[in-house]
Amino acid sequence: MSSHDIYAAAVAGLQLPAEWQVTVALRPRRRTLGMEVAPGGTVTVLIPSQADPDQVIRFVSGHRTWITEKVATAVRLAPDHPVKEFVDGETFDLFGQRYRLRFVDTLPAGVEQLPAVTAERVLYVRRQRPERVRRAIIGLYRQEGLAWARREGRQYELGGRIEHLSYAVRDLGRHRWGTYEGLPKHTTTLHWAVFGLPMPLVEYVLAHEQAHATRPPGRAHGPAWQRRIDSWMPDWRQRKTELAEAGRHAWLGEWKPRS
Ligand SMILES: [Zn+2]
Repeated sequence: MSSHDIYAAAVAGLQLPAEWQVTVALRPRRRTLGMEVAPGGTVTVLIPSQADPDQVIRFVSGHRTWITEKVATAVRLAPDHPVKEFVDGETFDLFGQRYRLRFVDTLPAGVEQLPAVTAERVLYVRRQRPERVRRAIIGLYRQEGLAWARREGRQYELGGRIEHLSYAVRDLGRHRWGTYEGLPKHTTTLHWAVFGLPMPLVEYVLAHEQAHATRPPGRAHGPAWQRRIDSWMPDWRQRKTELAEAGRHAWLGEWKPRS
């Protein structure tokens, strides 16, 4: 048996609750045993070289309460992003409103270009291949989002004496809603998917980055940065907490064909 298998067998012998997914990983550079819980709840026992299997057993047994709590939190906070199918009637959130997707082959009355959202809460998109539908909808989020950011960002530029700031809206992956890039770029960038979230959360992401754009001294989220955002948005901590929850359910562009 490899040393990995010996440790795995030792942990399996503990008969931990079946719903826990516990794995072992050899970490030759570690000096002590450790444990980590990934989003979703998988537990990994980190084992340094030469660890005694009995020691591993005692370590894991001694952390039962800790594991219980961590797994519960990890499962509760696991990402749960929707996967769209791009079918008529499917809903899309934009600027705090919910729109129903409707495919069309020609411009509907009163609509000047596609895609478009209307006051009747319809999202019109030209009937085309799903990859193109996806690109068209994300393009709409980016275009509308950029116009919003430029408009709403202005108050912070004035209040924070920010000059010559640029804005961008693009895909920032799965871990960031916004970013401020310092000179020479001097750009506030928001994730297009932010615009699918409730407006108070979109406003928080913008204010957060604009506070960075004032280039306060000290650490990125240090006292000077906090004073700045406190003055702009006294309830930002509450919004940050809500963003962590709402963000788990945001559409990040995933889709699959209807089965
Ligand atoms: Zn930040």
